Amino acid sequence: MQRYVFDPPVTPALPIAGQDTLFPIRRIYCVGRNFADHAREMGHDPDREPPFFFSKPADAVSAAGQDMPYPPQTEDLHYEGELVVALGAGGRDLNIDEAQTCIFGYAIGNDLTRRDMQSVAKSLKRPWDLSKGFDGSAVIGPVHPVADTGPLNSGAIKSFVNGVERQNGDLNMMIWGVDEVISALSQSVELRPGDLIMTGTPAGVGALERGDVIAVEIAGLGRIETKII
Ligand code: MN
Repeated sequence: MQRYVFDPPVTPALPIAGQDTLFPIRRIYCVGRNFADHAREMGHDPDREPPFFFSKPADAVSAAGQDMPYPPQTEDLHYEGELVVALGAGGRDLNIDEAQTCIFGYAIGNDLTRRDMQSVAKSLKRPWDLSKGFDGSAVIGPVHPVADTGPLNSGAIKSFVNGVERQNGDLNMMIWGVDEVISALSQSVELRPGDLIMTGTPAGVGALERGDVIAVEIAGLGRIETKII
């Protein structure tokens, strides 16, 4: 049997709440503009256009509670508090019912974004990749099995910077619900166990400075905190 020329990378993983097991991460997908109020604040019409997706590398994940070094090549690092759905099954061309059965659980996420770099990419019609997929950019907390939480289709989602509330939305304000997001994404790519989907952020995104503590709360999932250093 042929050997690798160096050790293959370790599979990134998230802790599972209340269990001594890990959720292995395969891919991280993200939904753009899935709350009307956030679409508006970014200067877009929140009509119910089909959802669009981008992605982050699996190893861009950063465990909640871990300090996050301020990333290079930006002077406008933004937080985006989001619900993350973790898939325990997958497939192609999933309908809404099939999509629902793929959900392993949920986590709280923070889709960290180099907003200035993203704005340049948008204006020059370049890819967003490095504005969204930099090291540590996917802050995600423990995965809570859906068996414990039940389906999360409503409930408060809030962000706080240094204890001051900055985002206050409800999961029921998503333009595309979690099952619709999974179904739509499965029309484009085959989904597999281990895939994570960051489902979009409500209004109130903003900049973080070194020393700030950003907290994200979702009803039923608790709270995650990250210090920017
Ligand atoms: Mn986002």
